[in-house]
Amino acid sequence: MATAAVASVIPANGRRKQQRGGIKSNNNKDEEQIVFETSVGVEAITSFDNMGIKDELLRGIYQHGFEKPSAIQQRAMLPIIKGRDVIAQAQSGTGKSSMISVVSCQIVDTSVKDVQVLILSPTRELASQTEKVILAVGNYMNVHAHACVGGKSLAEDIRKLDHGVHVVSGTPGRVCDMIKRRTLRTRAIKLLVLDESDEMLSRGFKDQIYDVYRYLPPEIQVVLISATLPNEILEITSKFMTDPIRILVKRDELTLEGIKQFFVAVGKEEWKFDTLCDLYDTLTITQAVIFCNTKRKVDWLCEKMRSNNFTVSSMHGDMPQQERDAIMSEFRQTETRVLITTDVWARGLDVEQVSLVINYDLPNNRELYIHRIGRSGRFGRKGVAINFVRNDDIRILRDIEQYYSTQIDEMPVNVQDLI
Ligand code: ADP
Ligand code: MG
Repeated sequence: MATAAVASVIPANGRRKQQRGGIKSNNNKDEEQIVFETSVGVEAITSFDNMGIKDELLRGIYQHGFEKPSAIQQRAMLPIIKGRDVIAQAQSGTGKSSMISVVSCQIVDTSVKDVQVLILSPTRELASQTEKVILAVGNYMNVHAHACVGGKSLAEDIRKLDHGVHVVSGTPGRVCDMIKRRTLRTRAIKLLVLDESDEMLSRGFKDQIYDVYRYLPPEIQVVLISATLPNEILEITSKFMTDPIRILVKRDELTLEGIKQFFVAVGKEEWKFDTLCDLYDTLTITQAVIFCNTKRKVDWLCEKMRSNNFTVSSMHGDMPQQERDAIMSEFRQTETRVLITTDVWARGLDVEQVSLVINYDLPNNRELYIHRIGRSGRFGRKGVAINFVRNDDIRILRDIEQYYSTQIDEMPVNVQDLI
């Protein structure tokens, strides 16, 4: 009943002419700034039972431990299931990527062998994580998902794809490669999802995404998700989306109550290391992720910590994939507690036990700050973020604070009590 009532406000398969519903434009003297807002008429469905989800998938959802849909799931799932283009923004750790896994299972027809959903993510680890969630929630249905990512055997990709896969969760490079080899057939793809979509549509990936997009059927449904969606990204969405439903979050609501943010004034770069050593006991209370801005610095810091007899692990994009996988799996199984890494780890990765994030270096942009600190405090858990701030970084920290209307206090002595 509830489903039908809500369903009536969302036209099914709304492939209409481009229209700019819900956009206000501020005509300034010279430039036109479009203000994007959440679409009118988005309703919340507070139970998975009322979304018209297949029984065997519902069983998988509950078995996976999801009892009630999160706020973004309540609002975005049904429009996606009904075939609408959707732009879904919500705070980190609130179930966006999980939602994609669920709707992918709902959308596919498992009686045919074709690829029907393509999910693109910026890192191999995130694409693999999404594949795992699909297989978990789809446990009671015969869904075949495959992580199509770089650094892995081409032969295995080909074998899997030939055998028949319903959902591909991949990274752009490998997916594009598979499409061009005609191993990944795009004819039956109904839904394209860009997870971490602002990253996917930013300079580094944009061309590859458009390259993939060219091969997809013209009527393709497109869904974008991210915790951060800067205006310049929202502006280009009209190029490849049709009358999208937008669910957006205002900048000042993007940081989570549960993640306490602090800074340590370290003065100079050289003093960061001792500060980190002093914090080591705090790091190991549960699990911690330490961010540096370069791969070299990750290697250096890892070495230096080890030579001072601290147990740490490290991961970055120059490591062979096998090693990255091993480090991920050890960290996920809590065999290691302190991970030093680059922004390869900034987005999407979900390890429940992480309750502390350290920015050994402040991130290079405002979006990365939100994503990095969002590695802790997953799905309403508590988290702490500590920023190491040199004298010449204070400006950057204040900018972040102001931009998100949030508060970053000096780290208290009892910080471990907050973890
Ligand atoms: P996001 O993509 O928004 O950062 P994820 O989809 O990675 O969030 O989910 C974050 C965590 O919350 C995961 O551990 C996931 O299993 C959990 N989660 C997601 N949706 C639900 C739900 N409805 N109920 C309980 N836990 C959930
Ligand atoms: Mg995510």
